[in-house]
Amino acid sequence: MRPCTVTFNLAAARHNLAVVRSHVGDTRVIAVMKADAYGHGAVRLLPAFADADALAVSCIEEAMELRAAGARRPIVLLEGVFRADELELCALGEFWPAVHSEEQLRMLEAARLPRPLSVWLKLDTGMHRLGFDPARAEELVARLDACPAVLQVRVFSHLACADQTESPSTVAAIERFRTATDGLGRERSLANSGAILNWPQAHFDWVRAGLVLYGATPRDDRYGPDDGLRPVMTFTSELIAVRELAPGEPVGYGEAFRARERMRIGIVAVGYADGYPRHAPSGTPILVERRETQLVGRVAMDMLAVDITAIPWARVGSSVTMWGEGLPAERVTDIAGPYEIFCALGKRVHVRVVDERP
Ligand SMILES: *Cc1c(COP(=O)(O)O)cnc(C)c1O
Repeated sequence: MRPCTVTFNLAAARHNLAVVRSHVGDTRVIAVMKADAYGHGAVRLLPAFADADALAVSCIEEAMELRAAGARRPIVLLEGVFRADELELCALGEFWPAVHSEEQLRMLEAARLPRPLSVWLKLDTGMHRLGFDPARAEELVARLDACPAVLQVRVFSHLACADQTESPSTVAAIERFRTATDGLGRERSLANSGAILNWPQAHFDWVRAGLVLYGATPRDDRYGPDDGLRPVMTFTSELIAVRELAPGEPVGYGEAFRARERMRIGIVAVGYADGYPRHAPSGTPILVERRETQLVGRVAMDMLAVDITAIPWARVGSSVTMWGEGLPAERVTDIAGPYEIFCALGKRVHVRVVDERP
């Protein structure tokens, strides 16, 4: 069996949810599980987030998968519905669709459903992706209130720069949201992971926790453990070959790396087809036998090379950690970031699920 393995720790996921609660007090927590729980497997992680007040995904396909797997909480559809016939499924499944466009609003106005549903009106407070002009909040809430298909209207928006601790645009977005929604008397949500950690004034009634639940922090120059988080995903493999390089000898495709002095090199059974970022440069941190060392040369489809000169006891079969326990994913790539590498795991990687306290 090829040793390339990803281990998911449910205890770490529960711990991270508790960390979120410690930041937000009585504010309710939506566990964001879109994109198959950021590549961790939504069904697999569901038991760890059973205590969240609600779940969130991008689309109804993801919501139905979670419901079929036994999810009991309401499930927010962050992009709302794509077609009108999804609304009936929302009503029956207790899915709470976002309403971010005039098209979605009109679908709701025309809908006659077996029972009315709860929706989240999305305002655009500066990200300029989805959502309505906040100045229209009152008028839009009134239109939704008038829909026979609508039971309850909540209001939300999304921040573009909440990961930064100093951010005039975030201050402005929070103010814009507050001003537009203060008089509405509706439950509100603005904060993602960055704002949960950095911007308590953005917590309102519900926070939407994504990345932090998986143990990584979006904050600049910090890593998950600095914020008390534990990695849920640990990506490991083993050395399958060891060799010596003489000064000047290259390793890997394109001879992209050359030894400056005598060097011991380990070849690891992991490549970009497994989800290791192909553009990770020489010098990217990696653990061999729990000791930190560096990637050298180009990442190939099935293999990569590491410097084991300073780890003389490393041999074929030695453990390698690409990221996770002992090496935060945030350290691995500045280019892709933890969001992207979590979502990119390859199909052939073996999966283990554990439930281990530290
Ligand atoms: C993905 C997403 C979140 C969670 O973001 P994190 O930075 O991972 O916490 C929150 N809200 C919306 C609308 C999202 O799309």
